Amino acid sequence: MRSKKRRTKRVLFFLTIILGVGTASYFKFRTTILGTNAADEAVAEKESQKTLAIASTNETSEAESLTTTVVQIGEEDIPLYSQPDADSTEITTVTRGEYVEFIDESYDWYHVVVNGEYEGYVSSLYSELLDIDEPVTPTSLENTVVVLNPGHGGDDTGALSNDYYYYEKDITLATAQVIQETLEAVGCTVILTRDSDTTESLDEICEDSIDNQADFFFSLHYDSTDYMNDASGMTTYYYYEKYAALAETINQALAYTSPLENRGVEVGNFQVLRQNTRPALLLELGYMNNDYDLATFVTEYYQQQVADALLEGITEYIQS
Ligand SMILES: [Zn+2]
Repeated sequence: MRSKKRRTKRVLFFLTIILGVGTASYFKFRTTILGTNAADEAVAEKESQKTLAIASTNETSEAESLTTTVVQIGEEDIPLYSQPDADSTEITTVTRGEYVEFIDESYDWYHVVVNGEYEGYVSSLYSELLDIDEPVTPTSLENTVVVLNPGHGGDDTGALSNDYYYYEKDITLATAQVIQETLEAVGCTVILTRDSDTTESLDEICEDSIDNQADFFFSLHYDSTDYMNDASGMTTYYYYEKYAALAETINQALAYTSPLENRGVEVGNFQVLRQNTRPALLLELGYMNNDYDLATFVTEYYQQQVADALLEGITEYIQS
């Protein structure tokens, strides 16, 4: 009984793959011939694959959904309690906008796990139960959607160079455009959260990542410190523990190609990572107020090295 079910599932799985590949080629054909919006096509393609996957799941009665139920913390940071009781011990604070794993609910409490580490209870009055699409690692570059967020923009200049000549917002945009060209050349769909000097709220940036079902979301930044030429190098940040391996792979690829010092991988509780249901990293690609770093990363040569490293890292990650 069980093995038969498995065999049925396997057949349906391969059917899904075959239909998926067919759909992908069709959309690629349409994009080439009709010049339609690549981003819309990629999302449509994913939707159709998801429908196929769900259809096959229904036929096998063994429920296997591509959505997951999670709890999202509301507008304010709230305590995680050890018991469903506001008088119990506070284990930690959960940050606003954060997605946490849902276990069950009782009365006004959700029983949750925060970032794979802390188990406890949050008030359901200050958080919300949601179904989200579970990210599935793509199997080919042609099937990969990358959302790039050039950090800052518009009124928000980001960090400045020591001579105030360069703004972080301009270099993040230039870098994003080089990455876009590089990834599109190998068939990825690339969406920029801004492609000109405009301001976008952090909420909107997160929505861009989620709505476009990003397989990879990269927020691009150039760092700064209180003192000139105090720090140098690049850092790769992730927030959710499940993306630690992705951060490691991308960081290694950057370290391999970039001439700047590698400061390694760190956990960063940034809104664009935390309020994001897609695989997300924030990359600090050098220091604006370090003269050596600046002279290096303002060049297109460096930005191309970053683009090549991301392509290398993505390729390695989807093949692993
Ligand atoms: Zn920044």
